[in-house]
Amino acid sequence: MFRKGAVHMFNLIQCAENTYYLKCYSNIGVYDLGDGTCVLIDAGDHKKSVSDLNKAIVAHGWRVRMILNTHCHIDHINGNRFFRDTYGCKIYAPHIETFFVEENLLEPNYYYLGVPTNRKRNFFFRELGTKAEELTEDVLPAGFALLPLPGHCYNMVGVKTPDDVWFLGDAVVDPATYESYHLPLFYDINKSIATARMLAELPGRLFIPSHTEAKEDVGALCRYNADAMEDNKRQILSLCDGRIFEDIFAAACSLFGIDLDMDKYAKLVYTVRIYLQALLEDGTLTAALEGGRLVYHVI
Ligand SMILES: [Zn+2]
Repeated sequence: MFRKGAVHMFNLIQCAENTYYLKCYSNIGVYDLGDGTCVLIDAGDHKKSVSDLNKAIVAHGWRVRMILNTHCHIDHINGNRFFRDTYGCKIYAPHIETFFVEENLLEPNYYYLGVPTNRKRNFFFRELGTKAEELTEDVLPAGFALLPLPGHCYNMVGVKTPDDVWFLGDAVVDPATYESYHLPLFYDINKSIATARMLAELPGRLFIPSHTEAKEDVGALCRYNADAMEDNKRQILSLCDGRIFEDIFAAACSLFGIDLDMDKYAKLVYTVRIYLQALLEDGTLTAALEGGRLVYHVI
């Protein structure tokens, strides 16, 4: 029996007839297939969320049939190995993401351009990787659908359950994240903006981004994200003329009031470069090698 917003055992929230989610740092979707098995959409960020979810699964008497990873980031795949070992379930992820799901050392490589700092090395060098098969419409149970959500990661997808509930991965984040991080991590800013604007118009009954509350109307949040990224682009462009990357980066940290540590530095270097790439694509910025230094110029 569906009671809107009912909180079941171990904080599993029922949000439609057969669709549930565990509210945690990276929300996990659960769909009851009605035959004693369930589908997971992502697999948790932390041991505690994985353990809480499994207690709820056991209490419902379900077995996990499959995990659909929206993308490969470590806070979405943490429970893959536990659920595979416990239930023998299959794990699916979009193309390219499968390689990162299988080999968790690949993710820090692109932030750190090589070996991570010692603290992060311990974090990422845990053995989390699992074999993953390609997530396509063909492998989905009846009534599910996928939607490509380019921008945050290589090939992230949104997943719709047969109850018309959308799990949106990290396509949009809440305003508090922009206020605290200023430059949340995306892989392609222009595609992220287009994805956020597309999602603002997406029909559906409920929308569940990974890192914020479920929403019946996600339009305002999506427009906020697109506008925030556009605004960041304008502000970063204003710092670029006649400067090399290190000076632009330092000016951006000062402008946004960002306190750096070595881990933040790695991700922010990556993110500021991604913004510069978007401005180069727009044609509002150009770059030239001058005496062995790459100097940016506003057009
Ligand atoms: Zn992510």
